[in-house]
Amino acid sequence: MQIFNFLLLAGAVTALFLASVAWRRRHAPGAPALMAMQLSAAWWLTCYALPFARPWPDDGMFLRMRVIFPAVVAIAPVTLVFVLSYTRGTNKWRLSRLLALAIVPAVVLAVALSPLHDLCFGSWRGVATDSIVQMGPLFWVHSLYSYVLIGKSVLVLMAAYEQGTRQVRRQTRILLGALLVPMICNAGFIAGVTPPDIDPTPVGLVASGVLVSLAMFRRGLFDLVAVAHEKIGSAITDGVIVIDAQRRIVESNAAIKRIFEIDRPVKAGRLLGEQLAELDEHVARPGNAPTTTEFVHGSDQHLELRTFAICADDGNTIGAVLIVRDVTEARTTSLALEQANAQLKAQLDTIKSMQAQLQEQVIRDPLTGLYNRLYLADALARELTCSARSQGSFAVVMIDVDHFKSVNDVYGHALGDAMLRALGSLLRQQVRPSDSPCRYGGEEFVVVMRDVTLDLAISRIDELRVAFAALRFASNGLEVSRTFSAGVAVFPLHGRDEATLLAAADAALYAAKAAGRNQVCAASVHVES
Ligand code: GH3
Ligand code: MG
Ligand code: MG
Repeated sequence: MQIFNFLLLAGAVTALFLASVAWRRRHAPGAPALMAMQLSAAWWLTCYALPFARPWPDDGMFLRMRVIFPAVVAIAPVTLVFVLSYTRGTNKWRLSRLLALAIVPAVVLAVALSPLHDLCFGSWRGVATDSIVQMGPLFWVHSLYSYVLIGKSVLVLMAAYEQGTRQVRRQTRILLGALLVPMICNAGFIAGVTPPDIDPTPVGLVASGVLVSLAMFRRGLFDLVAVAHEKIGSAITDGVIVIDAQRRIVESNAAIKRIFEIDRPVKAGRLLGEQLAELDEHVARPGNAPTTTEFVHGSDQHLELRTFAICADDGNTIGAVLIVRDVTEARTTSLALEQANAQLKAQLDTIKSMQAQLQEQVIRDPLTGLYNRLYLADALARELTCSARSQGSFAVVMIDVDHFKSVNDVYGHALGDAMLRALGSLLRQQVRPSDSPCRYGGEEFVVVMRDVTLDLAISRIDELRVAFAALRFASNGLEVSRTFSAGVAVFPLHGRDEATLLAAADAALYAAKAAGRNQVCAASVHVES
C-alpha cells in the first residue's frame, strides 16, 4: 500500500509539473485545457493517496469521495476542451459552450456536496469499501456523461490523426493512449473486473501523465516549431501538397481543400491520383528543375501549379512539393485588358478607315467617282517629278463633251448626269491603272497618262471617243448620244510645268472644237513656253 500510495503521489507531482509546463506554454492551442486536466488529475491522485497513508475516521471513505469529486467531475469536460482546442488550433472558446459543458458536472458536484448526496453516492455511504454497486442515480448520469465526452474526444483525435502531418500523427497517437488508458482502467473498475476495493482509475491517470510527458518532451507537443508548422500550413492561401516518389500524399494544407472545393479530408498516405485526380493529371514526373503549368478547374477557375522536386543527398528525387495558386483574378484582369486593347484597336482601325474614306472623299468627285481637281494637281506634280528624273514622258488630255448644254436643256439635268457618270466609268475602265482620270469641272475631264508618247495617247483617247459616241441614252422613247472633243499635250514636248501643259491641252481641245468637234487634236509645239 505504501508503494501504491507513493506511486499515486509521484503521479500527482508529475501531473503538477506537467500543469506548470502547460502554463508556461499557455499560448499554444490546448495548453490551458491540458493544464486544467493535469491539475484535476493531480487533485484526484493526491486525495486518493492520502487516506491510504493515514486512515480516516469511520466516515473517511465517504469524506474522501466528496473531496475527490470536484476532480472526478471536471476531468472529462476539460479533456474534451483540450482535445478540441488542440485539434482546432485555437484556445478561443465561446463562454456559452464552456458553460454548457459544465452544467452536468456542476449539478452532480452540487448534489454530492449537499445533504442530497445520497442521490449521488446511494447506500454506499458509511460502508468501508470501494464497491460502487450501491451508487446513486446521479453517479451513473455523471459516468455516462463523462464517457460520452471522452468518447467524443477519442473520435476527434482519430479524425485529426487521419488528416495530420507526421508530427501531428505521432503526437495524436500518444494523446489517444493518454485518454484511453484511464478510461479503460475506469471501465474495468465499473464493470467489476478489478478488485472492488481498489479503483485503478488513478493508476490510469498516472500512466496518462507519463504519456502526456512523452508527447510534450519527446514529440514536441506545444513546441513552437510544430505549432508554427501547422499555423503556417493553414495560413498560406496557396494550396500546398507534399508527395513522395510514388506520388503518395505526405502532407497537405487547408487551402488545397478550399481551392478544389472538397469537403472530405485529403488523407495522408493515399495516392495523389485517388485523392485529387485532377491535380495528379497535371503533375509532371518530378524532375530536378521546378516546373510551372496552368490549367482550368471547373468552368472558369484558373489554377497555376508549381512543382519543386525534393532531392536526397545522393541527388535522387524522393518527392515533390506542389504549390497550387488560384490565378483566376489575374487572368480575368489580363483578359479584360486584352479585350479593352482589342476594342481600342478596333476603334483605331475604324478611325483609320474613316480617315481613309474622308481622304478619298476629299479627292473624289461624287457624281462620277473619278478624281477631282485637287487630286489632279497632285498627280501632275508627281508625274512631272518622276518623268523629269527618269527622262520619260507623260500626256495631259483634256476632254469636253460636245453640245452638252443641249442635253440638259432638252432632256433634263438627270440625263445629263447619267451621261457624265457613263463617261466617268468608261474612263475608269479604259485607262491603265497608272493613269489618273479626273473630272476637271462641268462636262470637262482631264486624264494624266503615264509613260506614253503623243501618238499612243492620241490613239487611246480616240478609241475612247469612239466608245463614248457609241453610247445610247434613253429619254422618253428617244435615243440620245453625244460625242466629245479632246486635246492632248505631252511632257516635255508641249510644256515642262502643270500650267503650260494644261493650257496646251486646252488649246488643242479648242482646236478640236473649232475643227468640227468629235475629234482628238494634238497640242501645237509652239505653245511650249
Ligand atoms: P461645246 O460643244 O462647245 O462644249 O458645247 P456645250 O454645250 O458643251 O458648252 P458649255 O460648256 O457651254 O456647256 C456646259 C454645260 O454643262 C453647262 C452646264 O449646264 C452643264 N453642266 C455642268 N456641270 C453639270 C453637271 O454636273 N450636270 C449636268 N447635268 N450638267 C452640267
Ligand atoms: Mg465645256
Ligand atoms: Mg461642252
